[in-house]
Amino acid sequence: MTQHQVSDELLMSYAAGSLAEGWSLAVATHLALCPESRRRAEAATAIGGALLDQIEPAALAGGSLAAVRRRLAATQADVGRTGPAPSAVRAPVLPEPLRSYVGGDADTLRWRRLGLGAYQLPIATRDGRTSVRLLRIAGGEQVPEHGHRGMELTVVLAGSLVDGDEIFRRGDIEEANESVEHQPRAGAGEDCICLAVTDAPLRFSSFIVRMVQPFLRI
Ligand code: ZN
Repeated sequence: MTQHQVSDELLMSYAAGSLAEGWSLAVATHLALCPESRRRAEAATAIGGALLDQIEPAALAGGSLAAVRRRLAATQADVGRTGPAPSAVRAPVLPEPLRSYVGGDADTLRWRRLGLGAYQLPIATRDGRTSVRLLRIAGGEQVPEHGHRGMELTVVLAGSLVDGDEIFRRGDIEEANESVEHQPRAGAGEDCICLAVTDAPLRFSSFIVRMVQPFLRI
């Protein structure tokens, strides 16, 4: 059971297919790990369908949810194949469709060093609006303090992320916006792996981090 679930606003936009691909990927990743949010997503889809029945047809934006769903459908086609019994298989760190986006599970990835015990792996999407990456932060290490010029979605996949008084664990999603200044850190003892999606460069407090920021593309 995840502690931090996706907001109604974001969930409705996801169900309507109006989110850019990067945001959709973050919500889909959270949904893959949170049964309660999946139930809410089904309800949101039903409500959206009922509302659509009552209004004039209009062009749907994007098509980015379709991109996420195509990946999901392609990977789910594999599910029926024979293989070891589920109990014999360790659950992947990266759920689908995220795993297909990066081409493997967390232990096979070619992480790029960010410094201070942190690594990243940029993830390509076609929306032209969001910046999507996996982050791996060594247990106990802090992310440099920063604010946001847009929205930031973070989905924890392994370890934990501590932000002020709150602890985010596997499956939890954190939504941050322009009003949030924070300095999350990985919980002690285990690397934190998370999916991070932004639509504008972060505002780092540290001069040195700002200097290297263009090279990190964060
Ligand atoms: Zn942030």
